[in-house]
Amino acid sequence: MKKAGVDYSKCQICSKCTARKACPTKALFKIDEDEPASVDIQLCYGCAKCTMECPHNAIYVREL
Ligand code: SF4
Ligand code: SF4
Repeated sequence: MKKAGVDYSKCQICSKCTARKACPTKALFKIDEDEPASVDIQLCYGCAKCTMECPHNAIYVREL
């Protein structure tokens, strides 16, 4: 099954994560503004919409 992941070396910790808004299941989240985005793999179904919205290519989808 495909799931998204965040490349922490690329995530720029944007104050408003544009990729997060693209997620239909709210699987992408940030606990604090000064932390990178994370993925709740229970909610993620690998649609890859978030990967197209992150301006820094910080999100990838891979087979788990
Ligand atoms: S995942 Fe992308 S859009 Fe979201 S905070 Fe990181 S760099 Fe910004
Ligand atoms: S792959 Fe789809 S479901 Fe998973 S975090 Fe990205 S937008 Fe959300």
